[in-house]
Amino acid sequence: MGIESQACLWLDQSPAARSWPPLTQSASCDVAVIGGGYTGLWTAYYLKRMAPELDVAVLEAETCGYGASGRNGGWLIGGLANQNVHLLSLDGERRERARRRLFGIVDEVAAVLAREGVECDFAHGGVLYAAARYPEQEAMGRNWLRELRRAGHGEADFRWLDREEARAQLGARDVRGGVFSPHCAVVQPARLAQGLARAAARLGVRIHEHSPVRRLAPGVAGLDGCDLSADVIVPALEGAAGQFSRLGRCLLPVQSLLLATEPLSAAQWDEIGLGRRQAFGDLSRMVTYGQRSADGRLVFGARGGYRLGGRAQWDFDPNGAEFAWRERLLRRLFPALGATAAPYRWGGTLGVARAFTPYALFDRRAGIAMAGGYGGEGVGAANLMGRTLAELILERDGDLASMPWVMPEGRLERVRRWAPEPVPWLGYHLVRSAYGLEEKLCADGSAPAWARRGAGKLAAALEALLA
Ligand SMILES: Cc1cc2nc3c(=O)[nH]c(=O)nc-3n(C[C@H](O)[C@H](O)[C@H](O)COP(=O)(O)OP(=O)(O)OC[C@H]3O[C@@H](n4cnc5c(N)ncnc54)[C@H](O)[C@@H]3O)c2cc1C
Repeated sequence: MGIESQACLWLDQSPAARSWPPLTQSASCDVAVIGGGYTGLWTAYYLKRMAPELDVAVLEAETCGYGASGRNGGWLIGGLANQNVHLLSLDGERRERARRRLFGIVDEVAAVLAREGVECDFAHGGVLYAAARYPEQEAMGRNWLRELRRAGHGEADFRWLDREEARAQLGARDVRGGVFSPHCAVVQPARLAQGLARAAARLGVRIHEHSPVRRLAPGVAGLDGCDLSADVIVPALEGAAGQFSRLGRCLLPVQSLLLATEPLSAAQWDEIGLGRRQAFGDLSRMVTYGQRSADGRLVFGARGGYRLGGRAQWDFDPNGAEFAWRERLLRRLFPALGATAAPYRWGGTLGVARAFTPYALFDRRAGIAMAGGYGGEGVGAANLMGRTLAELILERDGDLASMPWVMPEGRLERVRRWAPEPVPWLGYHLVRSAYGLEEKLCADGSAPAWARRGAGKLAAALEALLA
């Protein structure tokens, strides 16, 4: 029998404890944030902490955490996607400061959660990228580790675990080693978003849910029947940014999908491990990610597709091929699952920046501050970007404004855009097919070594071409 409903475990577990009234009359404020996900909420939170006199409003189309922020895999990474590009552009002292800012994300979030009393099942257990399933993953992991070393990361930040060490952490099939980093925590994503909304509101941020913005003009966010005017507008929409032509093609909206099992027994967890609730994934290019939830479930996902025209997607067929493929992979990795069901299936849309490099910018002339393009690593990144945007908007002297993820020109029109359709659609599907081929050949032990290597090179080359 098929799964009857598509339900997001996190949103299911945390029906909003309170809601916020829609905006129904025209108003004005100093800073209008569009989008009640992590980027918008962290930005609003830090703006009010740093400048309590500032009038800050958040407009959310649905409810806070409805987007990627309430649905993700819950890896809270101390870092940014593709951060080596930034780090390699800096010399000694500046690189060290940037590294501290990146790795410091986890402690900063932990401090805010404690200060604000946000309960979101936070556990700082690190992350294991396991070389599993096929031997090529070991080479991928070792190559990646070499790149990390070049960017200045030492053993304390990322280290290779041999087979026994890795298996002691993760009892998955065919684990032959892996890269471990302490710079990652896991959270219950929707609770984090809701807790942040409450913390921001306590500081005096005005939150309006069920308030979709329909038009974006300089200094004005237009809603149905009313407008919100502001000196600065912060579109914090990530995967949904493409609905506004001014922001169109800044980010490539792509999908990611997850499933979650029923709670596992103590015996199953003895076999699987993850005793510190460390995040885990394998080192394939399918970008798999998982966590042991606080109530003892395995939550597991992998990168998804791209829709023609860059449309966001929040509803998925629970019995579709996308979930069937993930479930097969999950069960192959974890024989200990046996007949345990995986009744939760959901997904969402995230944003990828050109060159896979997230950025923040404040365009004073246009009155727009924005950040994003986290490429599936936005839970921790949004905290750093929220702080960065607050410093930029308030012109504070912290060192965030001079970090390499801030676009120095501060001009919206300088953001590198993705090519018009159908180039992204074709490109993304080509890249995905190459990943699929690599995965198929590598997972099928009988394919000759040259074919497996060739498929890997093709996938990497196409990805570089798309960026
Ligand atoms: C399935 C999935 C798994 C992921 N797993 C991880 C992970 O494990 N670790 C990690 O670091 N990152 C992960 N990510 C990425 C991460 O979740 C996102 O990068 C991050 O949540 C982006 O936050 P945001 O606030 O920028 O965007 P969002 O959370 O998407 O927020 C945008 C908000 O804008 C609202 N909105 C849309 N249109 C309008 C409008 N017209 N007017 C007003 N409001 C509007 C939406 O309802 C939404 O609430 C994952 C993403 C997905 C989809």
